[in-house]
Amino acid sequence: MSKQSMREEAERLIRETMEKKNIVIKQGQTRIEAVCGKCGAPNRILAEKGATRVKFACKQCDHKQETL
Ligand SMILES: [Zn+2]
Repeated sequence: MSKQSMREEAERLIRETMEKKNIVIKQGQTRIEAVCGKCGAPNRILAEKGATRVKFACKQCDHKQETL
C-alpha cells in the first residue's frame, strides 16, 4: 500500500467515525425539532416513533412543556 492510499484510508476512517457520532438516533426513535414556547430557543428532542406530544424541558430556560 502506498503512502498516498494509506493516508486516504485513514481519512476515510476518521470521516466514518465522525458520521457515526452524529447519528445517535436509535432505531424506533425519532428526532423532533421543537421551539421553546417561552424563549424561542430550538430544542432537539429524541422521542419514540409515532409520538406526537413529547414532554421536554427547554435547554435554554428550563421551561417544561410539550411539543405540539
Ligand atoms: Zn426556553
